[in-house]
Amino acid sequence: MNSEQKTESNDQCLKQVKDEILGCTRCSLRELRDEGKYFPVVGQGNHNAEIMFIGEAPGLNEAKTGVPFCGASGRILNELLEHVGIKREDVYVTNILKDRPPDNRDPEVNEIEVCLPYLKEQIRIIKPKVICTLGRYSMGVIMQQFGLAEGLDSISKIHGKEFEKDGIKILPLYHPAVAVYNSNMKETLKTDFQILKKYQK
Ligand code: URA
Repeated sequence: MNSEQKTESNDQCLKQVKDEILGCTRCSLRELRDEGKYFPVVGQGNHNAEIMFIGEAPGLNEAKTGVPFCGASGRILNELLEHVGIKREDVYVTNILKDRPPDNRDPEVNEIEVCLPYLKEQIRIIKPKVICTLGRYSMGVIMQQFGLAEGLDSISKIHGKEFEKDGIKILPLYHPAVAVYNSNMKETLKTDFQILKKYQK
């Protein structure tokens, strides 16, 4: 398959995942989506990306627009990408949960179970070289899913450290929200983001 055919096939496959998410009624977050007139936040970016970012769940701004990381955390993410010369449109950004949990509470186990198959499909289709988990929630879920639970530790210990499974690198990073009011954390994130330069096409 040449690269044009691959892009077309990825577009089609990701469209299917999107349609499934749009129609999903498998957990109570769907009712809240409808009640709040929110959008599911499927994911955004390059369908052939080498770098995939996975956050926790959409916040209010994201649910109102359907765009991942479009609020304060998103501005930090954009700044970090710019810092290492990576364009946001060249990466793919998504979340563990595709719908907003009420009052931004932590995702519940059944919500993660319901949403994970969509994320796994997105990973299978895009085949990124590196998955960057944003925050400890995403880190825990992805490390478990990739059979890397034995490498799990607190995020303060393993942020910026690469793990590998089946040819995919997993890079735990702090959630950009930690840097909104903390310039030391922004510096830590900036240092960790340097690792991504080697994955640029
Ligand atoms: N925080 C997340 O984890 N994801 C978003 O999309 C926005 C904020």
